[in-house]
Amino acid sequence: MKLNGKTAIVTGSTSGIGLGIARALGSAGANLLLNGFGDAAQIEALRAGLAKEFGVKVAYSGADMSKPDQVRAMVKAAVEQLGSADILVNNAGIQHTAPVETFPPDRWDAVIAINLSSAFHAIQAALPGMKARNWGRIVNIASVHGLVASTEKAAYVAAKHGMLGLTKVVALEMAKTGITCNAICPGWVLTPLVQKQIDDRAKREGISAEQAKTELLAEKQPSGEFATPEQMGALCVFLCSDAAAQIRGVALPVDGGSVAQ
Ligand code: NAD
Repeated sequence: MKLNGKTAIVTGSTSGIGLGIARALGSAGANLLLNGFGDAAQIEALRAGLAKEFGVKVAYSGADMSKPDQVRAMVKAAVEQLGSADILVNNAGIQHTAPVETFPPDRWDAVIAINLSSAFHAIQAALPGMKARNWGRIVNIASVHGLVASTEKAAYVAAKHGMLGLTKVVALEMAKTGITCNAICPGWVLTPLVQKQIDDRAKREGISAEQAKTELLAEKQPSGEFATPEQMGALCVFLCSDAAAQIRGVALPVDGGSVAQ
């Protein structure tokens, strides 16, 4: 499992699932390039804390994943500051919920740009270096919404289905190399992105946040429990291991049985 000497870019790693993945890759010995938004002092404390805890090099890029030039510059920064970009985890994502008939076009564009197109730009920028070393791991964080749909999530569901298509094409094009590309499909994970949906539901239905949380799980997730950022991190580390070298182009749900229904 040891990833010593490898460098991992994890987009959207200042919070939630991305942070869980960065922690898991760091604990396996990978140097890290963190990315995402947040308070500058808190991000610096996070960067320095991870470097100290795991004894790895940790850099940060504030690249906005909705801007292709910044996505490409982020990959370049990883190579310049940490020596290579061996592992790429495309995780940054946003949500917007509204019926398709009134879905704001600017929110559609933003969700597609951040949740889907950024992965294309990052993959294109990272592949030449991975090919030169004939080793690479690309892990796309899709969603159960890459496999099934829900109402009021047109842009998100379209982006996540697209992410699985991109995953398969990259896996096939790299099939004769040491570069793999796979997707993880989380079900509900309690992060700020989901907390907002819980709070919106509680407000809309005039119920407590705790009740809204229970309802949300009961509706979709048979286990009745949230999946965790740590579980996503552990799976990501496995996908980066030699044992996973022939796992190519798959979509792995971590969803408490959600898509088995
Ligand atoms: P989160 O809101 O906790 O974290 C999102 C991260 O992305 C943050 O670090 C944020 O700063 C960053 N980000 C947002 N917009 C950005 C931009 N334009 N440029 C750079 N960084 C940006 O969310 P999360 O729940 O951890 O979600 C992470 C990923 O997992 C997303 O792709 C999401 O769709 C996916 N996912 C989450 C769940 C869930 O239940 N939480 C389920 C399935 C899939």
